[in-house]
Amino acid sequence: MRPGGRRIAHLGRPMPEGDAVRRTARRLDEALAGGALERADLRVPRFATVDLRGMRVLGTQVVGKHLLTRLADDRRALTVHTHLRMDGQWRTGPVGPPGAPAHQIRVWLATDAQQAVGVRVHMVEVGPTAAESQWVGHLGPDVLAPGFDPGAAAGRLAEAQRPLVEALLDQRLVSGMGTMWAAELAHEAGVDPRTPTHRVAGLGEALAVVCARMHRAVDAHRGVGRRELAVFERTGQPCRRCGTAIRATRVGTAPQQRPTYWCPRCQPPLA
Ligand SMILES: [Zn+2]
Repeated sequence: MRPGGRRIAHLGRPMPEGDAVRRTARRLDEALAGGALERADLRVPRFATVDLRGMRVLGTQVVGKHLLTRLADDRRALTVHTHLRMDGQWRTGPVGPPGAPAHQIRVWLATDAQQAVGVRVHMVEVGPTAAESQWVGHLGPDVLAPGFDPGAAAGRLAEAQRPLVEALLDQRLVSGMGTMWAAELAHEAGVDPRTPTHRVAGLGEALAVVCARMHRAVDAHRGVGRRELAVFERTGQPCRRCGTAIRATRVGTAPQQRPTYWCPRCQPPLA
């Protein structure tokens, strides 16, 4: 182990960030949108008795990393809210066995032909579509939303005067990025991940570049490839730009510390 460096475990696959959550929403739409629910199990005590059967699925929207599946019938317009966090998944396919142990299933929606099983999904809630802001109203601008303004978001981040990666992970400032894209953004900006946001030159430009990469990942069938990543989970491997070994550290304060990765040569600390 490097002096002063604690080992940071690398996950098998990155946890879902805004681009991956949008790919999930697209799959949900392919499976359910336009159909009427014949099955709607919400396996959370608070909503276990809510009957959504017969409601038409309008589609699933994403705000930040939150999934909003909108339903309607003659009487009601409701939204099923879910979040994937670290390990949640929506599994979609033809109606059949759920493909997961019963205790991991939080939601199970199905039309006459297709189903979507929410495995280990979090924040499972149902409420009026008109009141979705109770779940997403606190979020900062979504980096993948139409009309996202990187310059304005950079201003908002600079005002916060917080360490860069920590600020990018605070969904109240900007939403949709997680540890992967935040680390990539600090590399793009050429600054140490702990640089205070108001001292990062070119933050708006770096945001624009990373947003474009995220948009491409939404459209790519399998998302961003490991070989496209500059620093994320590349501890000890050579920087693709300068060959220096990538380093890892943690940012934020306990218990919300998150790993980040950087090239000490391309991303020097401020003098
Ligand atoms: Zn480098």
